[in-house]
Amino acid sequence: MKVLKFGGSSLADADQFKKVKDIAFSSDDRQYVVVSAPGKGVRSNHKVTDLLLMCYQLASHDLNFNEVYEIIENTYCEIARDLKLETDVKSILKEIYKQIQNGATKDFTASRGEYLNAILLSDYLGWNFVDSKDIIFFKNGELDEEKTDISISKVLREKPYSVIPGFYGIDENGKIKTFSRGGSDITGSLVANALKADIYENWTDVSGFLVADPKIVENSKTIEYITYRELRELSYMGAPVLHEDSIVPVKKNGIPINIRNTNSPKDDGTTIISSYDSKKTSSKVTGIAGKHGFSVITIEKTFMNSEFGFFRKIMSVLETNEVPIEHMPSSIDTVSLIVETGKIVNKLDKIIEEIKIYTNPKSISVEHGISLIAIVGKGMVNSKGTSGKIFTALGNSDVNIRMISQGSSELNIIIGVQDKDFERSIRAIYNAFY
Ligand code: ASP
Repeated sequence: MKVLKFGGSSLADADQFKKVKDIAFSSDDRQYVVVSAPGKGVRSNHKVTDLLLMCYQLASHDLNFNEVYEIIENTYCEIARDLKLETDVKSILKEIYKQIQNGATKDFTASRGEYLNAILLSDYLGWNFVDSKDIIFFKNGELDEEKTDISISKVLREKPYSVIPGFYGIDENGKIKTFSRGGSDITGSLVANALKADIYENWTDVSGFLVADPKIVENSKTIEYITYRELRELSYMGAPVLHEDSIVPVKKNGIPINIRNTNSPKDDGTTIISSYDSKKTSSKVTGIAGKHGFSVITIEKTFMNSEFGFFRKIMSVLETNEVPIEHMPSSIDTVSLIVETGKIVNKLDKIIEEIKIYTNPKSISVEHGISLIAIVGKGMVNSKGTSGKIFTALGNSDVNIRMISQGSSELNIIIGVQDKDFERSIRAIYNAFY
């Protein structure tokens, strides 16, 4: 049994609804569909959720929100008209309008995009509509996992072929509460986990994740399989992926997530799995991602590594100044702190002064304009020469490596380069492995 989630671009207009129907009806095991609100599409340049939030803002200042609401109305009315749906969408829209005008909460207002879209899709597919307020529960501001899990499985097991709105549930006071933006991914994951689906298909507008950013590497290959952990590393380094929290529920039961393209349904996409088995051997490098905007603070002091408490003192300075340390490579006489530049602006002089007072170093220097690149791949553990290959490729491309860090899990190798070398480095590493 498969649980499907369709993102906003997959449901932006009637033509997209048709593609969704073809996909949902293409095999009997596709039994549950979770939907986002209509996103940007051919006809509309706006995401319905953004428009709803604008309506909320205006209404909360007693301002007229008719103009914005009209765009929302048109989006849904056009879908209903083009697909010849029976749902009285105008009445539902009128009711929602009144609720916003009468002071509906922000979360309630934002959730209506998914609510209406699910009603329309269930009509179009001829499937059940199950409201998320009856199966997803929050308590003290957090998801009530146990109650949600039990409710989903109780309600939905009885109702195969259902459409469920993503993004929201209900709290202990009976009020609608949403997840953070992009949260329909989480709803899909919760449903897949509670029903112990064989696979969670997440349908979007790309055929999976690419090995490297296509703006940097032309015709980058698609990642066929990636583990949850590898994906975490890549998304931390800026690769655009799913909502972070959406991995958590399915991970519990090891349910694979298959990222697919509604506009190109034949593509296999990327499958996120818990671990590789012998059939799904990874290439040594699964993905490459990177970010700009780092600084390196280098502290030099002879034999610092044998001085008790030296690193602790440095770390406590950064802790009290609320600067997280991304990486901390060291040698006998120097240590480099890699930090986000944005986190040290306006504080740098103070930090340097404090490090000087606490550790009495020989010198401290700071270099800005550093980019970090993560080369991620579980397969690196068992293969010799991966780092050699990376450094040879960078050397041949005339890149000066400013920092190297490899965790003992060997899941990734992180290198620091100057901003100007960023794209060249990613291309060189990609070409070395693909
Ligand atoms: N519609 C919501 C948003 O735009 C949730 C989602 O699409 O996942 O954030």
